[in-house]
Amino acid sequence: SYDELRKCTNNFAERNEIGSGAYGKVYKGLLSDGLVNVAIKRAQQGSTQGLLEFKTEIELLSRVHHKNLVGLVGFCIEQGEQMLVYEFMPNGTIRDSLSGKSGIYLDWNRRLYVALGSARGLAYLHEHANPPIIHRDIKSTNILLDENLTAKVADFGLSKLVSDDLKGHVSTQVKGTMGYLDPEYYQTQQLTEKSDVYSFGVFMLELLTSKRLIERRRNIVHQVRTTMNKDDEEYYGLWDMIDSSIRDTPNLTGLGQFLEITMQCIEDSPEDRPTMSEVVKAVETILQNDG
Ligand code: ADP
Repeated sequence: SYDELRKCTNNFAERNEIGSGAYGKVYKGLLSDGLVNVAIKRAQQGSTQGLLEFKTEIELLSRVHHKNLVGLVGFCIEQGEQMLVYEFMPNGTIRDSLSGKSGIYLDWNRRLYVALGSARGLAYLHEHANPPIIHRDIKSTNILLDENLTAKVADFGLSKLVSDDLKGHVSTQVKGTMGYLDPEYYQTQQLTEKSDVYSFGVFMLELLTSKRLIERRRNIVHQVRTTMNKDDEEYYGLWDMIDSSIRDTPNLTGLGQFLEITMQCIEDSPEDRPTMSEVVKAVETILQNDG
């Protein structure tokens, strides 16, 4: 309830800051029962929309539940500051894992499960949430790992809560992130489910290479495309970019299938990209053949 959550904010301190993003700072806190860890996002001053809109949106979002979505526990408003309270993800972001920062090593099989889980979370937002939710900012820092290393998508619905004022200033952060953003957006100024699919494809590339591809992505994508159209031996150019630990996978067929679906996700035109449930099915098939 609202009252209960209000107390939670007494239980976090500035020193418990764990990160900061477009919306504001993130703190680790405890629910008032003293047992449940939570992540508390505090909006930057003046960054959010009116209180009523905030409450309406949060009520909507707190009804969205899925195993692969970081649950929104609730919200609190203290001295005019808006705070969002989320389930705490003790194993950090996928970016932290891929960069070696969190100490969680993701082998190829685990990466397949990360892709599957996060694809399921996103498919749920697109196809089962009512009304449907476009995430708008899928990236490796928005996919987190819980205590069982289950991947969960964070920050869904958040872009709606950031005021238009702020959007104007940091549009690349709020409306998607550079490198992950659907190229179609530059023409239409519209983000759709297929924009999420594009961002998800960039995320899959990141799972393959372990690298953040923001700068060089266009080149890589181009290279990959040209090699994909040729014979299997000519995966060569791409092969060098794949994380060396993944290259040792015994299941090269699965790796090839993963590459193929990745490339489809980052097709220039939205209609050439699969839906998220098609991505889910493709990754499920790879994992079935793997086992
Ligand atoms: P960004 O806008 O870059 O995605 P966020 O505001 O979502 O940043 O989060 C900033 C950082 O806070 C993340 O990189 C992550 O390390 C941490 N964080 C966010 N949400 C959670 C959570 N639910 N549990 C644990 N850590 C979190």
